[in-house]
Amino acid sequence: MAMKIIQAECTSCGDCKPVCPTKSITDKGSIFKINVDTCTECDGEFDSPQCLSACPAGEACIVYV
Ligand code: SF4
Ligand code: SF4
Repeated sequence: MAMKIIQAECTSCGDCKPVCPTKSITDKGSIFKINVDTCTECDGEFDSPQCLSACPAGEACIVYV
């Protein structure tokens, strides 16, 4: 269970990175990615994925894998 960033929709705003409780979001240059091995979909910590809530592009940009 993990989330994924659709690169074509991501504007590299960076809003998702600081809200991730598992530090699963990294950026290399302007490319933001979610580590599928550590992303928990925020299960046990929040009711919904915090990156998705923070992303201005919402469900078009961050999707369930
Ligand atoms: S769903 Fe939660 S744990 Fe996974 S990348 Fe988003 S904020 Fe981090
Ligand atoms: S919040 Fe959305 S648009 Fe901004 S860097 Fe993260 S995935 Fe990209």
